[in-house]
Amino acid sequence: MKRTALLTVAAAVAALAVAPPAAATHPALGRQVLPAGDGWAAEGAGTTGGSAAPAENVHVVTTRAELVAAFAAPAPRIIHVRGSIDGNEAADGSLLDCADYATGGYTLEAYLAAYDPAVWGRDREPEGPLEDARVASAAAQTRQIKIKVPGGTTLVGLGDRAVVKGLNLHVDRVDNVIIRNITFVDAADCFPQWDPTDGALGAWNSLYDNVSLTGATHVWMDHNTFTDGDNPDSAQPRYFGQPFQVHDGQLDITNASNFVTVSWNRFTDHDKTMLIGSSNTSTTDPGKLNVTVHHNLFNNNLQRLPRVRFGQVHVYNNFYVVPEPGTFVYALGVGVQSKIFAESNAFALGPDVDPGLLLFDWGGTTLTARDNVQLARFRLEPIDLIAVYNATHDPDFGTDAGWTPTLHTRIDNPRIVPLLVSLKAGAGRA
Ligand code: CA
Ligand code: CA
Repeated sequence: MKRTALLTVAAAVAALAVAPPAAATHPALGRQVLPAGDGWAAEGAGTTGGSAAPAENVHVVTTRAELVAAFAAPAPRIIHVRGSIDGNEAADGSLLDCADYATGGYTLEAYLAAYDPAVWGRDREPEGPLEDARVASAAAQTRQIKIKVPGGTTLVGLGDRAVVKGLNLHVDRVDNVIIRNITFVDAADCFPQWDPTDGALGAWNSLYDNVSLTGATHVWMDHNTFTDGDNPDSAQPRYFGQPFQVHDGQLDITNASNFVTVSWNRFTDHDKTMLIGSSNTSTTDPGKLNVTVHHNLFNNNLQRLPRVRFGQVHVYNNFYVVPEPGTFVYALGVGVQSKIFAESNAFALGPDVDPGLLLFDWGGTTLTARDNVQLARFRLEPIDLIAVYNATHDPDFGTDAGWTPTLHTRIDNPRIVPLLVSLKAGAGRA
């Protein structure tokens, strides 16, 4: 009897965790601002997006063209996404596909034949007519699916099912943007580039993040869901022995972006999830890239959760689910001059996942980690991320990131984080 009751409770919780509660959202979301003190985006004047828009600057968009028009309309602006918008929508409403962007004689078959390491070698990047054709084809796709988000904008999903698919939102050198309650799906690149000099074995690289922040300040990314839908990395073929990577990041924060809060999002089933800082040698990133990452679900992601260079990055109350050891790379990437402060996170690791893999040395030297827990043998137990890493790696990480976060709301007991984040993170749950 007891066992049955427990199973019933577990089933109910699991059901809640996959189905958003009905009618969780309403147009008032667009009028909300980042709460005071809620992470780095609360610095200074805080983050208000387009919340103060007069009535004539409040838009409801249902197509790519309407979204582009709303971004071009006066600020401050609130843009509600209703239903599903596809970045590949042509002006006449038809859906473009990869063949529509291909130009100059590009085909994947021809590209694979020309740059096969057995033909081209491994010591130089592809060049010549087919690489030129790939670049031109990619440029055509970029013109269609990469869309800039201006400052003074709140972009918010209307209802529980707003979807932005096949589109790369680019928040570029602007201030004050809020993006909430949207499910971002599969910004696949039709024209991945083969680089035989990337790593020991070469790599396929792609262009489009779901959301890219470059030189952006005061940005609040909240209660969104990121998924590759029916086109996950795990389903891609391998060419030249390497995964054919058609995706880049889900949310990449680079090029001296600063004052960003990433809260209550679901990141799922993706390889390169969240990059904070893209260059070891940047002269503009030092002192910037300050980001707060809290109450997010990272479910079956492989790496960059996040990967950090330079920034003071507060990572707290996130729930990491790592079921498989086979493809998992790492959770927190400790990069050059990074200052990660990781506290009160929860890690649910499959039985064969090595907790020593949760950190990765990308040229950083130190971080702070405290009050983190792991789910092991059906119990939540403390895990000292740095000690576990240092026991099996050299050089050791130091244990002091050199700063203590002050901009944060309540830090929850990590033992309630798995349930809390499973129930409340993601689109449709704001
Ligand atoms: Ca990227
Ligand atoms: Ca060691």
